Amino acid sequence: MKRVQIFDTTLRDGEQSPGISLTPKNKLEIARQLDRLGVDVIETGFPISSSGDFEAVSLIASKVSRPVICALSRAKEEDIDVAWQAIKEAANPRIHTFVMASDIQIKKQLNKSYAEVLEMVSMAVSRAKRHVWDVEFSPMDATRANFDFLLEMIGLAIKNGATVINIPDTVGISTPDSFGQLIKYLVEAFPWLGDKVTLSVHCHNDLGMATANALVALQNGANQVECTINGLGERAGNTALEEIAMIIDTLPDLALETNVKTPEISKTSRLITNLTGYSVQHNKAIVGRNAFAHSSGIHQDGVLKSSDTYEIIKPERIGLKTNKLVLGKTSGKHAFKEYLSELEISLPEEYFKEAFRRFKKLADKKAEITEADVEAIVNEVCLSGEEVYHLVDLSVCGKDGDMPIVNVVVSKNGEKKKASAEGKGHVSAIAAAINNALQINGQITDYEVKSITEGSDSQAYVICKVLVNEKTYTGSGSDEDVLKASAIAYLRAVSRALA
Ligand SMILES: [Zn+2]
Repeated sequence: MKRVQIFDTTLRDGEQSPGISLTPKNKLEIARQLDRLGVDVIETGFPISSSGDFEAVSLIASKVSRPVICALSRAKEEDIDVAWQAIKEAANPRIHTFVMASDIQIKKQLNKSYAEVLEMVSMAVSRAKRHVWDVEFSPMDATRANFDFLLEMIGLAIKNGATVINIPDTVGISTPDSFGQLIKYLVEAFPWLGDKVTLSVHCHNDLGMATANALVALQNGANQVECTINGLGERAGNTALEEIAMIIDTLPDLALETNVKTPEISKTSRLITNLTGYSVQHNKAIVGRNAFAHSSGIHQDGVLKSSDTYEIIKPERIGLKTNKLVLGKTSGKHAFKEYLSELEISLPEEYFKEAFRRFKKLADKKAEITEADVEAIVNEVCLSGEEVYHLVDLSVCGKDGDMPIVNVVVSKNGEKKKASAEGKGHVSAIAAAINNALQINGQITDYEVKSITEGSDSQAYVICKVLVNEKTYTGSGSDEDVLKASAIAYLRAVSRALA
């Protein structure tokens, strides 16, 4: 069995998806869940890019101790020093630095000679090495680079002390065949790659081949995969962590193993969806809503007779429980607390009180309260607990054919602001009223509503993308009332712009 290192970059590459804006506390919550999931390395951010990123990386470095805590930096002295400042508290710190490797990027973007590029490699790795033993180097756009030049870059990085060489398919142009060959050639050229020096791959999904490419790389000598939860990332995203982990878990003939605790997969995927506002497509492998749904009569008949007729993964294997305990309106504080501890959720006392209050309110309207309901409540309480802006009141009036009129009361640090507005529809009137209350000019660019559970009494979950001063911000909100959920989601998006 070959042990594969799982390097999660949801907080770095994943966060580069347009409109995602996570607070340092959100990022810490994600890092803690990634720790429970059993990933080996967490790439926590790009500290020089913003003070918020720096703060998030240092927060995680000081609080999450088992996995390697990695920070990204360009090949610039200042970047590398700042990356080190951000991770220096970590028990297992790593600096990840990169230099463009392909002719296209070197000539058209970097505008340097090969000799100058090689100098950058030596400088970056040796500078990082001054701070920390564990240094990862990536020749960016490696799959379009001149092969001999790529070998020179890698040789130099290793000579200067790189402990990990990462081969990125930055633009997602490789096929499994060509990528596998490349990895094989690299191991032939540097036999200690995949052994004394970790050989990593970072695949993008522009042609839908990211997971296949990562798998083939592992079969040809790589021993680290960079990936993200739900396949988030630049453009079409990265190799999905849940896919590579479940391929390895499901197919023992591959003779690969990871440290991933697969029953944590489903929960991790939902957390990322809730905090990023990026929902998962229904037919997505492993974590899509339909991944375990059998709709054709023949398939249903088979699964009822024996689940292995059409099911290659048992839902429990990724943490989808089948015998769920259900709460109802007679459940008290004690039952609610028990339920939370079964979900491994622990809340500070004031958050618990608020979560219980919301649970009772929901239980008055909804017969069965499920895991998804409780998770939505807890998520809402945790998000609003750290927010400056709150929705205090919302009233919507107007009959069909009239322009709806919305009145809102929004508070900022306890100070209330009232406003009202008309709109073509209810949601646009809500947005206009919140704009008036906060004196901001936000415009909805995308709006999505889904139900948290089945049935007409389900809570609504709304994701709203809002354009403010040419930048997009995402907010999400849940409530039994779809218009209130919309107002919360909109307010959350614009308050990120105001922050
Ligand atoms: Zn990337």
